[in-house]
Amino acid sequence: METIIVIIKALVVTLGIGAFLGLLLAVADKYLSVKADPRLEVLLSMLPGANCGGCGYPGCSGMADSIISGSNKQVSLCKPLKKEKLAEIIEYLKSTPGPDGSVLNDIK
Ligand code: SF4
Repeated sequence: METIIVIIKALVVTLGIGAFLGLLLAVADKYLSVKADPRLEVLLSMLPGANCGGCGYPGCSGMADSIISGSNKQVSLCKPLKKEKLAEIIEYLKSTPGPDGSVLNDIK
């Protein structure tokens, strides 16, 4: 009988710790999560995807990151990008606000 009581106590303690940690993770997710800029995925899909490094970044995702973060304002650094696609990307970035409501107006 005593063994069963010990097992039940262990189960209750384990479930309590699990519930507490689950609650902690839920709160952290709600208040500490970083919202990804949805323009990043769209821009990445519009770039050629050659990952050639011709733009000076390690790949298309590096280039897309730099554009969306604002550290690079020249989509035209992408060598394989056709003129029509460049214009389409610039139009997209100038007309689509990020999570903070700002648009990338000075993109070339
Ligand atoms: S030059 Fe264009 S295709 Fe090549 S890695 Fe840079 S963004 Fe990608």
